[in-house]
Amino acid sequence: AIDRLKNSGLLKTQGLVGGKWINAYDGKTIQVQNPATGDVIASVPYMGQNETIDAISSAYSAFSSWSKLTANGRSKIMRKWYDLIISHKEDLALLITIEQGKPFQDSLGEVAYGASFIEFFSEEAKRIYGDIIPPTTADRRLFVLKQPVGVVGAITPWNFPLAMITRKVGPALACGCTAVVKPSEYTPLTALAAAELALQAGIPPGALNIVMGNAPAIGDTLLESTKVRKITFTGSTAVGKKLMAGSASTVKKISLELGGNAPCIVFDDADLDVAVKGTLASKFRNSGQTCVCANRIFVQEGIYEKFANAFAQSVQSLQVGNGLIEGTVQGPLINEAALEKVETFVKDATSKGADVITGGRRHSLGKTFYEPTVLGNVNNEMLVYREEVFGPVAPLLRFRTEEEAIQMANDTNAGLAAYIFTTSIPRSWRVTEALEYGLVGVNEGLISTVVAPFGGFKQSGIGREGSQYGIHEYLEIKYVCLGNL
Ligand code: ADP
Repeated sequence: AIDRLKNSGLLKTQGLVGGKWINAYDGKTIQVQNPATGDVIASVPYMGQNETIDAISSAYSAFSSWSKLTANGRSKIMRKWYDLIISHKEDLALLITIEQGKPFQDSLGEVAYGASFIEFFSEEAKRIYGDIIPPTTADRRLFVLKQPVGVVGAITPWNFPLAMITRKVGPALACGCTAVVKPSEYTPLTALAAAELALQAGIPPGALNIVMGNAPAIGDTLLESTKVRKITFTGSTAVGKKLMAGSASTVKKISLELGGNAPCIVFDDADLDVAVKGTLASKFRNSGQTCVCANRIFVQEGIYEKFANAFAQSVQSLQVGNGLIEGTVQGPLINEAALEKVETFVKDATSKGADVITGGRRHSLGKTFYEPTVLGNVNNEMLVYREEVFGPVAPLLRFRTEEEAIQMANDTNAGLAAYIFTTSIPRSWRVTEALEYGLVGVNEGLISTVVAPFGGFKQSGIGREGSQYGIHEYLEIKYVCLGNL
């Protein structure tokens, strides 16, 4: 795999500042490991404040020319970037699998999904319309202009090493912003490969910069800079809150995509097959490591036994292994700390009365692998109910009435995704409207798409990504009054 990547020219191991590949100024590096094997894939620069200051300056000077290109000019370059990503989809997918762990087929899926943000926003660039407002006096004309906010600092997580970047950089570049991206230190290689393709496509030097290393130092430098006008972040709620607080001193615009605690509600009237498949897809995608994974599965008492049996059977058939092995559908967790967290959550649940229906242990493959697990008799005292497990553990809870299900589903500070399974149309509307969540899947477990808005209620975040709404996060509104006509 490594040889293939070396030959592709996409195995980049330096940061990108002002169109140049650079090392950390003090020469420090950090290793990137394959979570499935523990092997070191590469070393990348361990950067901090100084490199970030330079990246911000490059982005700031690139802004004046990039933002003045016509929308069509930017659109054509971005379209080329999209085409290059697609023509290198297998190399990119290989990189995703070896640094993040997900099965190769899922990595190909992420490349397609990630690329779709570049394609969609390259088109959307041409449709950033302003307004003309009827004036209140005859000698005036009133206009609304939409202009790019400026330099954007984007901080992204490891679970979707490509898509979490394109989802931010796509709309930012489309409307004329430039960016300093800090990918996760666990998965910088995909970001660097995507940046190499951006350069090949003609994204100008400085419009897209990549720094990585000391996350708090890089984050603080972005926050303190008055040149950075916007912070966009996907990751944990704890870090999101820090970035929100840190944005206050320079009053930056912010978009945050934070943790979820997704309820999945299976009603007695659900189609059992649809409910089992949808819940499985939602819960076990990326081995449970997405912020929209079902985290609490509420099952109505009339269907509980049937659902629990059918669901556990499907879970037992999930093939666990290295994502490069054909047939694998469950890869490793990102690292041993993630595995220990899962272990702690399961122990906490069983010590408070939960039953292990299937799984419940480290997988025989060792280290970062955990058995796909279903827990029964879960209650609201347990960690698996209160927090995101971010692993392959499905907690089942029994409920009696619709009201009770809604109350429990909303009993959390998170509000990202929710899922319901029912064949009743009136119920699907009633429950959807009552759920305090930004995304609702009705009889579907996988609902993310570039054309629909993604984002959370409550402490799951601020702003929306994707869709026509996604681009507004990167635009300022300017009101112009033309007077004394
Ligand atoms: P996850 O659990 O998904 O790793 P994190 O919030 O820890 O969530 O990480 C998401 C991104 O935030 C990563 O790129 C990480 O390096 C970065 N990060 C972590 N701590 C800070 C910080 N104090 N300031 C800025 N970025 C940070």
